[in-house]
Amino acid sequence: MQVRKIAVVGAGHAGVQAAASLREEGFEGTIILYGEETDFPYHRPPLSKAYLKGGLDDAGVPLRAAQYFAENRIELRLGGRVGKIDRAAFRLETDGGVSDAYDALILATGAKPRAFDVPGAELPGVHALRNLADARKLRSRLVAGRRLVVVGAGFIGLEIAATARAFGMDVDIAEIATRPMGRAISEITSAFFLDAHKAFGARFHLGRGVREISAGGGGSLSVTLSDGTRLPADSVVAGVGVLANDDLAREAGLACENGVAVNDRLETSDSAISAIGDCAAFPAPGLARPIRLESVQNATDQARCVARRLTGRPEAYGALPWFWSDQGDLKLQIAGLSIGVDGWVMRGDPQSRSFSVFGFRGAELAAVESVNRGADHMAARRILAARTPLSPAQAADPQFDLRRITTAAVA
Ligand code: FAD
Repeated sequence: MQVRKIAVVGAGHAGVQAAASLREEGFEGTIILYGEETDFPYHRPPLSKAYLKGGLDDAGVPLRAAQYFAENRIELRLGGRVGKIDRAAFRLETDGGVSDAYDALILATGAKPRAFDVPGAELPGVHALRNLADARKLRSRLVAGRRLVVVGAGFIGLEIAATARAFGMDVDIAEIATRPMGRAISEITSAFFLDAHKAFGARFHLGRGVREISAGGGGSLSVTLSDGTRLPADSVVAGVGVLANDDLAREAGLACENGVAVNDRLETSDSAISAIGDCAAFPAPGLARPIRLESVQNATDQARCVARRLTGRPEAYGALPWFWSDQGDLKLQIAGLSIGVDGWVMRGDPQSRSFSVFGFRGAELAAVESVNRGADHMAARRILAARTPLSPAQAADPQFDLRRITTAAVA
């Protein structure tokens, strides 16, 4: 069937990039981009960084200028959730009752915060951070001298904690695991960030979950941890992970497991429907089980991959994953995936607040974590993408020029 009309559900990083890439790849038909948020599509990462610091205006950083959508004939329908897909009829329906036909459908519905399921989580002053509306509320609570309890020492929780400390807030961080960012990064980098956040002035409560939150007098809160510790707070922010927004796909009968299941071309179990970004569980080269990644790189590269397929250039998705997180004066950048890494070597010196750790799976480099060392990160991305051989001894040797081997490999 000739594709004349493409519907994209979700106007976040993946959805907007998919619409843009379709035009860049020469698609001339109709593109309709549905977004349930009323805010004009915006960059999500600054919400826990520059936006919270107060360095951006209320609308955040737009993903594209307003005129871009009109100039590129992308129909942007904001403020309306797509609530139903009728696969047999190739139609979708918004919760507002609008019904539209599609030839191809791209699901880019992202993720939602995991429910913070403790008594008192519904109290005023308890926040989550996923969208601009959340960030506006949280920003108004970051005030010098007030007390913030951060639940979850993942990337977003720690970014918020560092910002709150920079404002002069009193910050406690409760984390059920025994180390920060434990699911995502090496022990070495995790230990470095633990010390760094303590030096910023935050207090850690590791290996402890939250039992309940209760209201005190005058709008204050009290957070009781699993060991009975009570933390007084003016605000609480829960950064306890996200779940894929796959309800729409499930209700349409598409295969889902920890996200919308796709093949290596990012097609769902219905080949007219693709899924990309935070909502998609995809087979990654070399890994036994499908994975779901939560990063801007993954969202935008998958969008480009689907746009190429829909315009006649199908290919297996195999882009190198990379990610960043800004915490205080520390920029953490990660290239590759650390799943199955069995040894790490250090390059640089953590004391200098500038180092990288190189993770090897057997003899092969699999992932590189860099702190305030952008050149290592860029070189690592090239080395990993080209699978250029690099030994642990070379990685650890500060005199060994990483750029040279990538240039040599390209040449
Ligand atoms: P999203 O950007 O979440 O967009 C999905 C959109 O779909 C949402 O607007 C949602 O409302 C909409 N939607 C869902 N269901 C429907 C429906 N049925 N109908 C219509 N619309 C629907 N990544 C990094 O790489 N580096 C960072 O530093 C970083 N920092 C982050 C900080 C914060 C605070 C957050 C929340 C995320 C951060 N991320 C970061 C992750 C990154 O933002 C996500 O991986 C990225 O936004 C994923 O893009 P997406 O388009 O898949 O999903």
